[in-house]
Amino acid sequence: MAYIAEYIWIDGTEPTAKLRSKAQVLADDKEPGIWGFDGSSTNQATGDQSDVVLNPVLVTPDPIRGGDNKLVLCETLLTDMTPHPTNTRAKCAASAEQYGDLDTWFGLEQEYTFFEGIAPLGWPDNGFPAPQGGYYCGVGSDEIFGREVVNAHLQACIDAGLHISGINAEVMPGQWEFQIGPVSAPRVADELWLARWMLYRIAEDFLGPKGIPISATLDPKPVAGDWNGAGCHTNFSTTEMRESYDACVAAAEALGAPGKPELHISNYGPGVELRLTGAHETQRFDQFSYGVSDRGASIRIPWQVEKAGKGYIEDRRPNANCDPYVTTQLIIDTVCSAAKS
Ligand code: ADP
Ligand code: MN
Ligand code: MN
Ligand code: MN
Repeated sequence: MAYIAEYIWIDGTEPTAKLRSKAQVLADDKEPGIWGFDGSSTNQATGDQSDVVLNPVLVTPDPIRGGDNKLVLCETLLTDMTPHPTNTRAKCAASAEQYGDLDTWFGLEQEYTFFEGIAPLGWPDNGFPAPQGGYYCGVGSDEIFGREVVNAHLQACIDAGLHISGINAEVMPGQWEFQIGPVSAPRVADELWLARWMLYRIAEDFLGPKGIPISATLDPKPVAGDWNGAGCHTNFSTTEMRESYDACVAAAEALGAPGKPELHISNYGPGVELRLTGAHETQRFDQFSYGVSDRGASIRIPWQVEKAGKGYIEDRRPNANCDPYVTTQLIIDTVCSAAKS
């Protein structure tokens, strides 16, 4: 007997990488192994040296095909088995390893927006829905669009064994969030990329009210104007932060040290300055601040953390379209190197 292994990888599309996948049929007694693809079709190679290697990093049950079938998230390698230039995972894994004794955990809040054709799901063809206010965590068909996709995706993430910790409807109608974690890097980023792939794939199977298949986008500002953007708030803690409030404050300070805000912002996803305007629960992209309960700050210290005197902090700056290998790697490098100095 045989099963199907869906190999999934991150391509080299600029400025925002896309997910790609293809399937391999394997005998029941074979584990998914090294494979490859045509990198000249994914902006990862030239036609004369087109082979890029797929190296499995996370293998899960396939909740979409079911049965014994599998999903196989891969990193990309050159044919000499060194990381491909577009492989950001390798550097993330190295930083996590270097500061392994600080055992950094991450909880990623992935926001995204459903579309049906050219408009956000549930929006009228012309004009706008009622202004924001009632949609966040709302209920009722006048406020909530796409719940059946969200529920199918949530169950699929659970069935794949991902550390999904919740979902909620967001402030802009048609916008949603799911959370992965807390888990260490690079695994948390592996799971986020796999959950993104499942979201796109599952949405294919659902029609919107206009009869068009639903799509999901990580566009950080899908509708200009007085509508919330989409982020990927990155909550994190080190061993020390889970034991001490001072360590939580020190981590926030480290992220604000000279040069660090610019370094982080420029790697937190294309279009970050379109989203971090200072309005809509954001701090401006060119300013840095932190505060307890402050959703207008770059970094929020949750009130429960201040109360308990220990816990984690939230970096609110990463865009929905960030690469979580890059964001977690930068946070590890900045926060852990400061903690060690
Ligand atoms: P928000 O109030 O910002 O919407 P969420 O409930 O959506 O918060 O997300 C909070 C995230 O914080 C979750 O993903 C959770 O896994 C994560 N988290 C909780 N505790 C820790 C911790 N000690 N270290 C890192 N992340 C944590
Ligand atoms: Mn949230
Ligand atoms: Mn949110
Ligand atoms: Mn948040």
